[in-house]
Amino acid sequence: MPHVPPKLTAFPVFVRLEGEAVVIVGEGEEALAKARLLGQSSARLRIIAPEASADLLGWIAANGAAHVARAYAPEQLEGAALVFAASGDETLDRRVVEDARALGIKVNAVDRPELCDFFTPALVNRAPVAVAIGTEGAGPVLAQLLRARIDRMLSPSLGTLASLAVTFRDAAERLLAKGAPRRHFWREFFEGAPARAVAGGDVSGAHAAASAMLVAPGHAIGHVALVGAGPGAEDLLTLRAQRLLMEADVILHDALVPDAVVAMGRRDAERIAVGKRKGCHSKSQSEINALLVGLGRQGKRVVRLKSGDPLVFGRAGEEMAALRDAGISYEVVPGVTAAFAAAADFELPLTLRGVTSSMVFTTGHDLRGGALPDWAKLAISGATVAVYMGRSVAADVAGRLIEAGLSPDTAVAVVENASLSERRRFHGTLADLPALESRHDLGGPVMTIIGDAVAGANFRRSQALAALPVLSPVNDGVTA
Ligand code: SAH
Repeated sequence: MPHVPPKLTAFPVFVRLEGEAVVIVGEGEEALAKARLLGQSSARLRIIAPEASADLLGWIAANGAAHVARAYAPEQLEGAALVFAASGDETLDRRVVEDARALGIKVNAVDRPELCDFFTPALVNRAPVAVAIGTEGAGPVLAQLLRARIDRMLSPSLGTLASLAVTFRDAAERLLAKGAPRRHFWREFFEGAPARAVAGGDVSGAHAAASAMLVAPGHAIGHVALVGAGPGAEDLLTLRAQRLLMEADVILHDALVPDAVVAMGRRDAERIAVGKRKGCHSKSQSEINALLVGLGRQGKRVVRLKSGDPLVFGRAGEEMAALRDAGISYEVVPGVTAAFAAAADFELPLTLRGVTSSMVFTTGHDLRGGALPDWAKLAISGATVAVYMGRSVAADVAGRLIEAGLSPDTAVAVVENASLSERRRFHGTLADLPALESRHDLGGPVMTIIGDAVAGANFRRSQALAALPVLSPVNDGVTA
């Protein structure tokens, strides 16, 4: 049996208030809250407040509301479309309610649901779009929580986009057949090229894109977003990343992006795993490039989801070049890179006044050659060094840096699975670092941070690297 919700005792509707009078009776906080809410409409506000608070007076002056500075009298309600009894005084509020009803006007009494003909919602305002949230008295806190959640889901530019849509309504009706073609146009309008242009502040570009769609209907313009998924925790995804995931037709993700993050995408989006992990079949970079270009040409909205930040050791350069060459539009959405997540897990200041003011992001793989890379000199002069993909070269990194003159006592912090609940933390010195290389049980991604600033970290929840037992090598095909 499908779940049938109980009946709503208060049913949401949108009331036209343009040019209508709305009366608020009250002079304190309650009245001000209602004034602020109704001030978002184009109603004419009349506020009955013989002794208005300073805040209310300020609001009235700033918003051009009519102020009646006389004691309440029933005739002040005449002609109003809605009345709010917001005096904070029960006797007066009751009188206002009775008087309004006698005049046939719907009335709301603040904090007295039993006296209300209607309730005001918590409002997400992207005029002309509005989302109204009602809880029928389950509580303003719940309504505010829901409002915050919905607010995050909606692009700040939604209102501008909706206003633009109004100007295209007639043309779409004239030029496009009812049904699928029109639906397709509007879906592309709200999620495709026009929406992207408006989000980028380019309303005339949005206008041009929408006009082009009217002339060549059915021709969707593909777009690829290179999106940083962050280090793994779902709530370290950015709001923009989440929005794009909700709009994607196809999601191409790396192996390091946890399923829980991929699952935040639109339910019916096609999901393609392209990463290499534990010997699974994976695509070569040129295959991935070709796939992105092909999907873009088909008019798909593609999210290329990469762990951390897409521009840090993510091969984004190659993908962007392929997209540029093919003339496919793309954008980049930054993410929380692993070094930042690891530092947060250790409460580790990456820059520290008087200690270090520079940072190096490296893989350490260039230390294997003959010449010392430039970043090693930075490390010696005090930079904080974050080593990506560094587990299998830990001994090399430590050996070469010590050889180059970095003190073997330099502090080191290591995190496996940064930001995730199953993370493991280790600490020690550069001299201890080689122990990491034999730790084949570290199956998750590993971040190593080296430098004097590391000494300022919190090691309470971490194990000493020196105390690690050296495990016998097991080849599980994992590269960290
Ligand atoms: N673009 C990614 C890096 C990809 S390279 C970013 O900005 O974070 C892959 C390497 O990133 C891993 O070998 C590991 O060193 C690091 N890494 C990614 N996620 C990690 C995590 N949750 N914890 C620790 N290291 C991580």
